[in-house]
Amino acid sequence: MIYADIIVDISHENLDKTYQYAVPKHLEEKAVVGSLVRFPFGKANRIIKGYIISLSQTPSIDVSYIKEIDEVVDNALVMESHLIRLASWIRDNYGATLNDALKIVLPVKQTVKMVEKRTIRLLLGLDEANAKLIELQRKNYKARIRLLELLLERNVVDYDTAINKYGITRPTIQTFVEHNIIEVEATKVYRNPIKNQQQVEQAMVLTHKQQAIADDFCNEYDEGIRKTYLLHGITGSGKTEVYMEMIEHVLEQGKQVILLIPEIALTYQTVMRFYKRFGDRISIMNSRLSKGERFDQYMRAKQGDIDIMIGPRSALFTPFEKLGLIIIDEEHEGSYKSEMPPKYHAREVAIYRASLLGASVVLGSATPSLEAYKRAKDGEYKLYELNERISGAKLPCVYVVDLREELKKKNKSIFSEKLKELITDRLNNKEQIMLFLNRRGFAGFVSCRSCGHVMKCPHCDVSLTYHYGRDKNKLVCHYCGYEEEMPSKCPSCGSPYIATFGTGTQKVEEMVKKEFPTARVLRMDMDTTTGKEGHEKILSAFANREADILVGTQMIVKGHDFGNVSLVGILAADLSLYANDYRAAEKTFQLLTQAAGRAGRSKDNGEVVIQTYNPEHYSVTTAANNDYEAFYNREIAFRTMMKYPPVSNILVAFLTSKNDEAVAKAADLFKAAVLDYKIQLKSQMDTAEDIVETEDLEIIGPVKANVAKVNDIYRYVLYMKHMDYIYLKNLKNFMEGFIDYSTIFKGCNVQFDFNPMNS
Ligand code: ADP
Ligand code: ZN
Ligand code: ZN
Repeated sequence: MIYADIIVDISHENLDKTYQYAVPKHLEEKAVVGSLVRFPFGKANRIIKGYIISLSQTPSIDVSYIKEIDEVVDNALVMESHLIRLASWIRDNYGATLNDALKIVLPVKQTVKMVEKRTIRLLLGLDEANAKLIELQRKNYKARIRLLELLLERNVVDYDTAINKYGITRPTIQTFVEHNIIEVEATKVYRNPIKNQQQVEQAMVLTHKQQAIADDFCNEYDEGIRKTYLLHGITGSGKTEVYMEMIEHVLEQGKQVILLIPEIALTYQTVMRFYKRFGDRISIMNSRLSKGERFDQYMRAKQGDIDIMIGPRSALFTPFEKLGLIIIDEEHEGSYKSEMPPKYHAREVAIYRASLLGASVVLGSATPSLEAYKRAKDGEYKLYELNERISGAKLPCVYVVDLREELKKKNKSIFSEKLKELITDRLNNKEQIMLFLNRRGFAGFVSCRSCGHVMKCPHCDVSLTYHYGRDKNKLVCHYCGYEEEMPSKCPSCGSPYIATFGTGTQKVEEMVKKEFPTARVLRMDMDTTTGKEGHEKILSAFANREADILVGTQMIVKGHDFGNVSLVGILAADLSLYANDYRAAEKTFQLLTQAAGRAGRSKDNGEVVIQTYNPEHYSVTTAANNDYEAFYNREIAFRTMMKYPPVSNILVAFLTSKNDEAVAKAADLFKAAVLDYKIQLKSQMDTAEDIVETEDLEIIGPVKANVAKVNDIYRYVLYMKHMDYIYLKNLKNFMEGFIDYSTIFKGCNVQFDFNPMNS
């Protein structure tokens, strides 16, 4: 008899441990590690699902208690054993249930009916189709014959109808898609836009610098060296071409490649560049794919139908069996950190996965994270640098405008005189302009000028944001979506002087139109890009010169190469500096550098205006000089002094509950337990003579979180700082056990986050 340890799928039970079941003889072949199985559970023998984590010949409990597995779920992806190891590593390092970690590495086949309507369309002509039918009949492929006959009858068939009414299976449809016999409409968007253009474009001739980097990487790869590289290259220096060269080399060795690109930069333009070079061997993933489509992509990857997967963070778990290289473009991006538990960072997970499979990792950025650059300097990663733009296009000329001086000049407009002058100039020359505002609807809050009352969300501890509506103006909560009408007088004192402060993108758009009435303006922010492909539409309209000025948030600084943009205006550079966040300067530097990099990509007259109240702040001055090294040196000194990552490590514990008192009490108990742990460990160390403790654990809090209430849930936070990551990891593991056993934490949710990115 074979025994399987099974982890229960969390959608059934919140049980994070394994249970042993016997595998009946007839299932022995199908039941492998990673299989999804159904089995009777509990006293009531409810049939539920779970994954096989391990198999053994001997039972670990009395066999009389061991029940049998019912069945192995068909068509489920078998989770590869290395992905199971990856999941337990994620759980161990970031804090989550094993189930949550497994969900991340393994997409679950969607069982609920697809909301999206999909249709199947025959791609073959009548003669071709009839010939195919004869061929299938000869081979007696019953299911395929049925599908083809159906399509010959009506040409287009509804996907769900085919499955539910005609008993056609998804694999049959999938096979036809792969043989180009049919096309499934809703999935075709990114399938392969150049399917019928067979010719793949030749690579460009690389510059000497690009070639030197590619050669070095390829030589090391051939020598069997596997490690992590950091490609630091200014915007427009040709990093993407270098990636493609590396990818090609790795593919030639029969290996597979994952390329991570932040979703926002994964535009049609970018995707096409890769399709043109690699054609059919690519698949693209994005968050717009349904669960089922994502599953299909994984299936194709697992079957070896593709060799390259391009996508955002989740593409990291593509089940390639011969993975040889993981590239992470825009490595510094906050979106590589998961906001849901387990709050893992794609960079760290990529490096671990690569080590399991013998792959290399390449990180690329114009503005590397402090973490990555420090490790490169410490020799942990190999550093490659590209510090010139391709085609010799000069870097734009940057002006820093002190907004305090503008006030002295009685200029109350949001445009400094310099910016106004340059906008007028570009409009006259029929060149394009991007105006960049940090953060959506920033400071769009509404308050009373008589009594100071601020309009707040009744469910969250944040102010409501003013939005221009078609007929009525609204106040919206950006945390929970709560909405109300803009009041005509103050609800607190009745004064009519209630108004919005600050500047949101909508306000900027309005002011641009007022100041430059002939200019055609497009706005891009969360509100204008909600629809499918919403941001793609705006970007391509701008690329087609349907507008002169594009106004937007950080969204506009990514991904697109607008050859005609020769002026970038950053309206208020400081907004991110005031954020209550140890990465504030780093984020400001990154945003300014990336935004500036949009100007003059193909022209030599690129100019950038940075408007700021802090013209002397190092994140502004170094960004204006495009001097990453100088920024890094200043910032790493600050982090060292303050003992912030990457010099030290921070573990954040987030405690939430509907009951404010209960969570406050739990947070106090949490702290007491951490202190206990610290003291115990210290006394153990004191008796062990050879261990010298260099750094102490520092505990900050518990305090109410920045936003102390969201959706009527109260939030507390504790920070634990220590030089040694392992110390904090052990502490986290200890606390997880403690929380499980203490009743005080009932009704409380505790989440962990290492070295937070988005606080
Ligand atoms: P990055 O990824 O560093 O921003 P890209 O790879 O997108 O830079 O290159 C910027 C521009 O330069 C692109 O339009 C690209 O096609 C072009 N380019 C890159 N390398 C070369 C080359 N060796 N010869 C000619 N053009 C190149
Ligand atoms: Zn008032
Ligand atoms: Zn709210």
